Amino acid sequence: MEYDYDLLCADMDALCERYGFIEAFSIGESVMGRQLTCMRVGDGSRRLFINGAHHGLEYITSSFIMRFMKDYAAALIDHTPFFGYDISRLFHRSALYAVPMVNPDGVDIAVNGIDITNPFHQQLVASVGIHSFHKVWQANARGVDINHNYDAGWRAAMQSPSPSKYAGAYPESEPETRAVVEFVRRTNIDMLIAFHSQGGEIYYDFDGCVSPHSEEIAQKLAAVSGYTVTAPTGTAAFGGCKDWFLKEFAKPGFTIEMGHGTNPLPLEMLDTIYEENARILLCALENL
Ligand SMILES: [Zn+2]
Repeated sequence: MEYDYDLLCADMDALCERYGFIEAFSIGESVMGRQLTCMRVGDGSRRLFINGAHHGLEYITSSFIMRFMKDYAAALIDHTPFFGYDISRLFHRSALYAVPMVNPDGVDIAVNGIDITNPFHQQLVASVGIHSFHKVWQANARGVDINHNYDAGWRAAMQSPSPSKYAGAYPESEPETRAVVEFVRRTNIDMLIAFHSQGGEIYYDFDGCVSPHSEEIAQKLAAVSGYTVTAPTGTAAFGGCKDWFLKEFAKPGFTIEMGHGTNPLPLEMLDTIYEENARILLCALENL
């Protein structure tokens, strides 16, 4: 089973219909015109922004975020503790913003194959092979890896569109990247978490740009999840979402690599890795 944009839209509609206090709004459009929808829950002043599926094969992160939002809302309404946390208290001291699928076009390509209406159809088929998209596709609809397209140590690591790691013609060349950047700037976000798969790792640094509490919070997230805080990798990583957030704001920003295995992780794995990632989010809200 897979989790694509249509399933996401159906889940978001159902969630917002059931819980009137969850606000949903678009922060922009993908290359192919899909909405990049954000949900907000909580009326507090401290703002956590979480996102998933920067990468096409990593749709398990979107499914995780939707399940978390559903359980968070249910715990609030039922006044039941959620993994020991008092959700009413978190709701009133924080605002959680979630974009479950930053790269809906990439997920669609990874799940359903390349769309004939994609203007880059021929070029992408020639470079990947028609039968391999579901094994390799991480980029957006024109072959740019959104998580190398942010303005943080950006460089042209590859010269042309590719299933992954092509950083684009210039920083923020892609509408998905710009949508996230503009949203974060106008919303005054205090902490950012980008969910990826896989590896069971937590990254908190970019090129020495760490906030005073980044490492301490990363250690707390590791303690509740069993994941490993991974030492700064310097030049090995660049142009990612949390890299840009750290560089621009010097506030805590994290990449979480959820689960273990080969992408795409089977959705059934969520039953196993749900709690460790839910605890990461609750701990982050607690430490905002
Ligand atoms: Zn990723």
